[in-house]
Amino acid sequence: MTQDSTTPASPWWLQAGDEECPSCLRRYHVDAGYYCVHCDQPICPFCVVELRESRETVCPGCQEEA
Ligand SMILES: [Zn+2]
Ligand SMILES: [Zn+2]
Repeated sequence: MTQDSTTPASPWWLQAGDEECPSCLRRYHVDAGYYCVHCDQPICPFCVVELRESRETVCPGCQEEA
């Protein structure tokens, strides 16, 4: 594999995967993703919001409602 010098090497979980985030439409690895405890939507590692008190993972939409 040749390394493209214009893009920094990223860990496997930041590389494009099979899942598409409904919030930002980025593709991500399912193993690195989360699910919103409120609406059960998949969330990518970039969008996920972890609530401090409950340590629940929610999507940006549900965080705004909370
Ligand atoms: Zn996202
Ligand atoms: Zn949600």
